[in-house]
Amino acid sequence: MTENAISIQSLSKIYTGDKQALDNVSFNVERGSIFGLLGPNGAGKSTLINTLAGLVKKTSGTASIWGFDIDANPRNAKANIGIVPQEIMFDPFFTPRESLELQAGLYGVPKSQRRSMELLKAVRLDDKADAYARTLSGGMKRRLLVAKAMVHSPPVIILDEPTAGVDIELRQQLWEYVVDLNKQGVTVVLTTHYLEEAEQLCDRIAIINHGKLITNKPTKELINMAREKVVQLTLENDIVETPSHNAFEKVEMIAANILEITYNKDKMNAGEVLSIIQSMGLNIIDVTTKEADLEDVFLSLTSNVV
Ligand code: ADP
Repeated sequence: MTENAISIQSLSKIYTGDKQALDNVSFNVERGSIFGLLGPNGAGKSTLINTLAGLVKKTSGTASIWGFDIDANPRNAKANIGIVPQEIMFDPFFTPRESLELQAGLYGVPKSQRRSMELLKAVRLDDKADAYARTLSGGMKRRLLVAKAMVHSPPVIILDEPTAGVDIELRQQLWEYVVDLNKQGVTVVLTTHYLEEAEQLCDRIAIINHGKLITNKPTKELINMAREKVVQLTLENDIVETPSHNAFEKVEMIAANILEITYNKDKMNAGEVLSIIQSMGLNIIDVTTKEADLEDVFLSLTSNVV
């Protein structure tokens, strides 16, 4: 348990009005990893993050941060996490340096241990240390939010849709900083609805949709899954041996007359699968394709990419 940066067990949230935003979600985030929480808009990502942040009261389930249960030990749980919110909220009259000092004060970081300038440098805002927040560009404000989340040097940082509305150059800069933080040992969780972003950065990706956890796998495995399609064929006659063909990823015999074939949809289509089987002298009497939930989610995720 203590090996995990975050541990979530059977987490559910029903908002007043009966809206179930999280439905029995369980997963762990390993210490030292970059973990992607992916899902289309409305999937429940913010609800989950805000539950960890103590801003949303869960309906049931448990969660712990760095081994501290969010109910039994809320202060320690909070001290170990930094959250970069989706919304940019600033007091326009504070300078970035003052903002960080104030935040450090809120977290009870003694003056001698504050590192406002170091953090501003890390997010490339040191030349703006004494500028008013209202004079910062949108991108600069977002970088300041990241620095704010780090004032108490938490071992875990969560970035909620950090690149929404951010231009490509800035996105790149933000990612470099995130990767740097991770190299320094910080566990990073980021929510996004950009599949590509998660693919580039994350060791592991969990997908939620309609409040349910659909999958949670190492990135490479997940990306491969998204390329795979499965077709089930019922044959006229029973066979004894599983037919094989190097164009297929996998062939399984479900019954003596039922084959399940996994193929890469980038390389072939279902029609080609059928003709290969027929060319082996096997007569097909029924075909069903398996529609993975995952595929629907990927489709809706990728269609959101701008
Ligand atoms: P995401 O961050 O993945 O876009 P959210 O966690 O914001 O998803 O929302 C999940 C679902 O819960 C959505 O259907 C949303 O409309 C609903 N929801 C979010 N916040 C509230 C709230 N305060 N009251 C009622 N329903 C909410």
